Amino acid sequence: MIILIVEDEPSIADTVVYAVKSEGMDAHWVKNGQDALDYVRQNHPALVVLDVGLPDIQGFDVCRQIRTFSSVPIIFLTAKDSEIDQVLGLELGADDYVTKPFSPRVLTARIRSNLRSSQPSAIPSLDGFHADHDGKRVLLRGHDLGLTRYEFEMLATLIKGAGRVYSRQQLMDAAWDEPDASYDRTIDTHIKTIRQKIKGIDPAIDPIETRRGLGYSFRSERL
Ligand code: CA
Repeated sequence: MIILIVEDEPSIADTVVYAVKSEGMDAHWVKNGQDALDYVRQNHPALVVLDVGLPDIQGFDVCRQIRTFSSVPIIFLTAKDSEIDQVLGLELGADDYVTKPFSPRVLTARIRSNLRSSQPSAIPSLDGFHADHDGKRVLLRGHDLGLTRYEFEMLATLIKGAGRVYSRQQLMDAAWDEPDASYDRTIDTHIKTIRQKIKGIDPAIDPIETRRGLGYSFRSERL
């Protein structure tokens, strides 16, 4: 579980990294907004701690941009009362905020609480696809694709990590309890069936991309 820390002041970043790590979570620190966006796209952190005042892109804009492709929980670090008003008033999609100077203990408590409350809403929903983990089914604009258990696990994994390439081994690990019992070819067969089921509901879409020599990825219109 990686917490992304976006903060241009090293002393504050150090404090946050230390606090996060002392709670048994991993921390990754970036100093500007662009690096934060790149990191969230590529690495899918569990939560983002986002400073408002960044050297390149304002924290508010970073948050807005993240929200176009990810529902990762975001906690703002704000320095001024005026920033709090903006966090609350702009409907940026931030989950919480902590004001500077903050106590590391307060921050980690907020991180934990936001991670907990993000679990139920971590149901991936993208481009009309909705993965219902309790029911082990994927709906496409409300229509059940009728996936088998393995197909469900594979497609839910691809949707959750939309844009990211999964190797056949990674898909196998995600779907099978005993990954070694299966072969690459099995993954290809399941992918083929999943594509047919998607086409059965909407022949115009084919969101699963084959990445030659790498594996598969879910291509989102929102990425
Ligand atoms: Ca700053």
